[in-house]
Amino acid sequence: MPELPEAEFCREQLERWTVGRPVQALAVLAPKSLQTGLRKGPALAGTEAWALWERLKGQTSVQVLRRGKRIGWRVGDVGLIVHLGMTGRLTRSDVAVPHARIGWQVDDHWIWFEDPRRFGAVIPVPGEALLQRLSEGLGPDAWTGDVADAVRGAKGRTKLKAWLMDQKRIAGLGNIQVCETMWKACLHPDRTVGSLGEDERQALVDGIHWTLARSLRELEGLDEMLYLSSRESTPADFHVYGHAGEACRRCGETLVRENRAGRGTFWCPACQPTPG
Ligand SMILES: [Zn+2]
Repeated sequence: MPELPEAEFCREQLERWTVGRPVQALAVLAPKSLQTGLRKGPALAGTEAWALWERLKGQTSVQVLRRGKRIGWRVGDVGLIVHLGMTGRLTRSDVAVPHARIGWQVDDHWIWFEDPRRFGAVIPVPGEALLQRLSEGLGPDAWTGDVADAVRGAKGRTKLKAWLMDQKRIAGLGNIQVCETMWKACLHPDRTVGSLGEDERQALVDGIHWTLARSLRELEGLDEMLYLSSRESTPADFHVYGHAGEACRRCGETLVRENRAGRGTFWCPACQPTPG
């Protein structure tokens, strides 16, 4: 699953490949991947979204934004929201790649929205509504937004793991980044957010920035987007994610993995003590 670092990598690629240049041609290889909204139906001929899509041709790429895991691409007076879903990514190739769903020709190259498992989407919106639609239902961006404010305001009995995974609270974190954050902050996934002290909240904010910075750095300079969760050939540089049964790098205790908020969650039982 993509998290903020993968989405940011795609944003930078798209910016580098397109800004200042016109979109010369369009390709819709899988009509269901072009949608009218998140979790909404396909943008069929005759709908407003389809009309916006057709208007792209000949217009110039202006800007590529990101909020959480979503990418927002402004082309002339049209906006496109690129939702990577579970397996989406952008590639540049002169021939259609195997799982290409949507394509744009820019500068004699084709840029493809590749999406093997089809949980992603490209959503045309009016250009002036791009920022608002991109941010809909999302909390502050975990990398560029006011995370400290969100963490300071966390109240109640919601468990920390579930709170951090909730995109309405903070946008962009997924299972890997949340596990790494909690380890760095020495906080157990079952802590309730209301129980966190001032120092613990600060440690959480620092932990979020620490893990994102590491992952962003790791993707830097790659030619193709790589899902950090799926890399098998490169050394796993996470501290807890994927390391159950191994020694904690901070204290030597054996790391554990249990299900929390529906996903395999990794932590150190000594550094991250069980609450209560
Ligand atoms: Zn430890």
